Amino acid sequence: MGSGNAIRGSRVGAGPMGEAERGEAAPRVRVPFWCANMHETRPSFASDAAVPEFWDCPRCGLPAGQDQSNPPAPPKNEPYKTHLAYVKERRSDKDGAQILAEALERLRSSSRPIY
Ligand SMILES: [Zn+2]
Repeated sequence: MGSGNAIRGSRVGAGPMGEAERGEAAPRVRVPFWCANMHETRPSFASDAAVPEFWDCPRCGLPAGQDQSNPPAPPKNEPYKTHLAYVKERRSDKDGAQILAEALERLRSSSRPIY
């Protein structure tokens, strides 16, 4: 009995059951990230692991950061970015809706069908 305890005690960092080496007993923390489209994702990390500065948004693929009010800017060469996405980048959703309403108004007034 004495010899077994001596060997086990010499392994610094391992728990009494050896669980620590596999990481199963390590507590995990969820860290929220927000992308430029305000998608929130909360990946979990081991509490002692380094949390990355950016995280890829699982919904739209844009980089997401931990500051909700200042998400990282989308890459300039985003292949599937739409015109609407560009508009939303510079303006709030409310302004975008206003622009859309004005555009529709212009469309109606300039090409109003006559019945
Ligand atoms: Zn997103």
